[in-house]
Amino acid sequence: MTSIPDITLNNGQTIPQFGFGVFLIEPKDTAAAVSTALEAGYRHIDTAEMYGNEAEVGEAIARSGLDRGEVFVTSKLSNDAHEPDEARQAFAGTLKALGTEYVDLFLIHWPLPTRYGGDFVQTWRTLEEFYREGRARSIGVSNFQPHHLRRLLSESEIIPAVDQIEVNPYLTQDELHGFCAEHQIAVEGYSPLGQGRVLDDPTITAIARSAAKTPAQVVLRWHLQRGDIIFPKSVTHDRIRENIDIFDFRLSLEQVEAISALNRNERTGFDPDTVDWL
Ligand code: NAD
Repeated sequence: MTSIPDITLNNGQTIPQFGFGVFLIEPKDTAAAVSTALEAGYRHIDTAEMYGNEAEVGEAIARSGLDRGEVFVTSKLSNDAHEPDEARQAFAGTLKALGTEYVDLFLIHWPLPTRYGGDFVQTWRTLEEFYREGRARSIGVSNFQPHHLRRLLSESEIIPAVDQIEVNPYLTQDELHGFCAEHQIAVEGYSPLGQGRVLDDPTITAIARSAAKTPAQVVLRWHLQRGDIIFPKSVTHDRIRENIDIFDFRLSLEQVEAISALNRNERTGFDPDTVDWL
């Protein structure tokens, strides 16, 4: 029996600590994967306009028969829509595609550098509008480093509810975690399995054997015990069910520390400070 804890965000809203991510799931496979996840007990879906599958996420939620209020839905602003009017249009498009009047959480997907025509503080003010209108129940950011967050905190009114950043056993992001904890910003750890790359690690496979769980379950449990919000992705229906089956065991403090000690500051995705494709 699963029991997914809620985390209370800095604005009093709650978010299920565990959910389902749909990055790189083809639109044609998305509704089936999300339906399997909802049937397995997931109640939190993480999508983005840039994933191209918001409509299929909305379709699966509508088909599930669950009330809208029972499923926490996150989406993110496309990198090509940071200018205020474009952001307003993009946000309206997100709500329309999802078939909903509000999202539970809306994020700036990447802190666009000014040389690309963006100014993330100005973009944040537009997200503050969505929040005040109630069309985004919470707002946050993604891929923000401490220096980005410092600027936001000093130049805007609303503190982001979350920072969604890459976290896995090879990239524990301790400094950013410390900064977020200090400012009541919840951390969402994306690519929690390192897109599968950490699963053959001997420390992780040994802990998995001793816990009679799979390496993926051990890594996901490690994230939860560190307090992060996570949403692993899979299109394989057995794995979708395997990944949520992590609420019947606990890692010892020594096991959590042994996994944290695997950190080598190694990213699977792009570094927000050097990425040049935006
Ligand atoms: P992930 O770490 O969740 O890894 C997914 C991959 O791991 C799968 O494709 C599969 O190959 C493997 N896998 C999954 N379950 C497994 C299991 N039980 N056993 C063995 N292998 C398994 O990677 P992700 O999809 O990049 O990250 C999860 C979510 O994070 C995304 O779907 C998205 O919602 C979010 N995300 C956000 C950003 C961002 O910039 N904000 C970037 C990347 C991902």
